[in-house]
Amino acid sequence: MKILISNDDGYLAPGLLALYEALRDVAEVEVIAPEQNNSAKSNALTVSAPLYVHKASNGFRYVNGTPADCVHIALTGLLPYRPDLVVSGINNGANMGDDTIYSGTVGAAMEGYLFGIPAIAFSQVERNWLHLDAAARKARELVLSLQQQHAVGQTPWLLNVNMPNLAYEDIKAFKLCRLGRRHAAEKVIQQVNPRGETMYWIGAAGPAADDAEGTDFHATAQGFVSMTPLKVDLTDHDYLQSWAHTVSHLVTGAEVPGG
Ligand code: MN
Repeated sequence: MKILISNDDGYLAPGLLALYEALRDVAEVEVIAPEQNNSAKSNALTVSAPLYVHKASNGFRYVNGTPADCVHIALTGLLPYRPDLVVSGINNGANMGDDTIYSGTVGAAMEGYLFGIPAIAFSQVERNWLHLDAAARKARELVLSLQQQHAVGQTPWLLNVNMPNLAYEDIKAFKLCRLGRRHAAEKVIQQVNPRGETMYWIGAAGPAADDAEGTDFHATAQGFVSMTPLKVDLTDHDYLQSWAHTVSHLVTGAEVPGG
């Protein structure tokens, strides 16, 4: 098995190293990660500037681009082979509910998925690296189990996994969940810089709006590892019918009086 590892916190992040250490004897692993922190970069690709790949002393390769850039160039020419699995993380902080839209950790995994490769995004719920060793061990268990079940290297799928910051013994089982929802983000923060110019800082993510039983928010709060299969189709299938009605009443350009 060949695994491509990336993340969004950058190639120096403890979560990336922990994931690498946890998987290095499970498969042939390659790490290609952003040079800088790229949290909240989603699936962004750098199309207006060149990308450079450098190798760190530990063998990790780093790119002056986004998480999706890393996986994209790895799969479109940088790697001489096609990996069986793309894993991303372990992220410094939760990627639950609406976070998945913004997350660079999910973005890196999703890029693999879009290229037809199974992919997993791993995140720790709290932003302090506490019990990172336990999270890495859980990640390893999941990858090993999926490999043993022959789920890797076949049909592509995309899994979003969030792990509570607990000691290994205190983490409960993997729990299949749907995504919860968050309230809208906090207000933007305005400050004045030393030159008198106003700066704006994007506010923190909102608190959970839907953390009912069955959601990732609920599972991780109870000590479980949440596991949500994601898809990319954003079509609102429930409302297609209702929109069809609206569209049927639209006046086309040719029918506009005097048009
Ligand atoms: Mn991050």
